[in-house]
Amino acid sequence: MAKLRNRDGSPRVVVVGGGFAGLRAVKTLSKIRPPVRTTLLEQHNYHLFQPLLYQLATGVVQPADIAHPVRGIVRRYRRASVRMATVAGVDFDAREVLTDEGGRFGYDYLVLAAGATTNTFGIPGVEEHSFPLKTMPDALRLRAHLLRQFELADNNPAEIDQGALTVVVVGGGPTGVEMAGALHELFKHVLVHDFPDLDVHQARVVLLEATDHLLAPFHPSSRKHALDILQKRGVEVRLGQAMERATPDEVVLKDGTVIPTRTLIWGAGVRANPLADVVGLEQTRGGRILVGDDLSVPGRPEVFVVGDLAGAGDGKGGLLPQVAQPAIQEAKHAAQNIERTLKGEPRTGFTYNDKGIMATIGRNAAVTELPNGARFKGVLAWYMWLVLHLAYIIGFRSRVAVLVNWIWSYLTYDRHARIIVAVEPSARPALEQRPPPQRTP
Ligand SMILES: Cc1cc2nc3c(=O)[nH]c(=O)nc-3n(C[C@H](O)[C@H](O)[C@H](O)COP(=O)(O)OP(=O)(O)OC[C@H]3O[C@@H](n4cnc5c(N)ncnc54)[C@H](O)[C@@H]3O)c2cc1C
Repeated sequence: MAKLRNRDGSPRVVVVGGGFAGLRAVKTLSKIRPPVRTTLLEQHNYHLFQPLLYQLATGVVQPADIAHPVRGIVRRYRRASVRMATVAGVDFDAREVLTDEGGRFGYDYLVLAAGATTNTFGIPGVEEHSFPLKTMPDALRLRAHLLRQFELADNNPAEIDQGALTVVVVGGGPTGVEMAGALHELFKHVLVHDFPDLDVHQARVVLLEATDHLLAPFHPSSRKHALDILQKRGVEVRLGQAMERATPDEVVLKDGTVIPTRTLIWGAGVRANPLADVVGLEQTRGGRILVGDDLSVPGRPEVFVVGDLAGAGDGKGGLLPQVAQPAIQEAKHAAQNIERTLKGEPRTGFTYNDKGIMATIGRNAAVTELPNGARFKGVLAWYMWLVLHLAYIIGFRSRVAVLVNWIWSYLTYDRHARIIVAVEPSARPALEQRPPPQRTP
């Protein structure tokens, strides 16, 4: 049984989750005074750059381009270490984090940053028959499945009528829009040449959105731009169309329309990581854990929650969006509040510094909006998107690899990584399927 205890007397901080928020917390904690000893608990041995998952699924980049060994990152930070472990619960009274293998990690301060998971809203068939896009195996499974459908249809064109070449993407937010655009490019520019005997022009990308517009957080002119580009390029965008249910072979809409398809990509929503449901703290919309202004849990000042897992207020009565910038800024602020507490200073409230929003639609097309009201679209916005995403990828090697892949794809229309690799579902049970952790009395 792993049990962490600090020998040098410095306070112990445990950070759960090595995503954008968790890593920023560890980094900031490595610089605070008085010094603390930090242990990062991460279920994978890598940090995943989720914003480029859709490029992994469509063959633009390779797994190691968007995933960085988490030990390679944390070893740069002073007094910080990593344990590969899946957290299954927290004993708040004993101040111990419990792992699914029976480990107990004692803490003086705890930072929960376990992120979010896919929200299927209980729509029948979605859980079983859709492809989510949240993890590396999700993207690899989708890539293999898509390519396999083309191989099947090449062997037997009758498969086309059964939906082999039809992809339905649900959710007109940034993930759905970028996925639909990338799929269209993969089909019409790459697979059309790979499968000369197949009528690839019959391949369809259908983007379903329940409201009457794409890209909800954006200005109407940006939304319209995204819609125009997708439609011009051949994506079938269906606005105001909600899904009723899914089977392995079809998607049924609320208005009764049946779309034969074997590929339903779910980009319609996220909810907090299931860890939020088992720790017994107060939750807000989407299962997120309620936090106060200082980002700690009400009544538990030694416990902070940051990133997608946190229900942090936006100052206008709502919650901050579950995107990278709030996660990074919250994590830094929580670590600084730990420092303030250790120094005997009052904590400060978190204020989000909005740096703007952007979404890519495909080659040479994106929308970017800055907080001062400036809006960009088309090629300029696309370059902004490329530069920003490149800057946030961890590791010089990965940045160079992604840049090379982008340039290659741009110049040749090629998708180098269109490889079928069988990815089995994880042998380890998902958190929600495990027995509840034992709490110490
Ligand atoms: C497909 C996709 C595209 C996106 N595109 C953008 C974009 O363009 N721009 C943008 O700003 N945001 C984007 N986002 C959102 C952004 O990635 C998240 O907001 C951000 O990753 C949140 O950071 P986080 O640290 O809270 O969570 P995460 O980055 O999800 O990290 C959580 C970490 O916790 C670990 N973990 C989970 N459970 C446990 C457990 N029980 N025990 C131990 N470890 C655990 C996970 O393995 C993971 O490493 C996108 C997300 C997705 C899925």
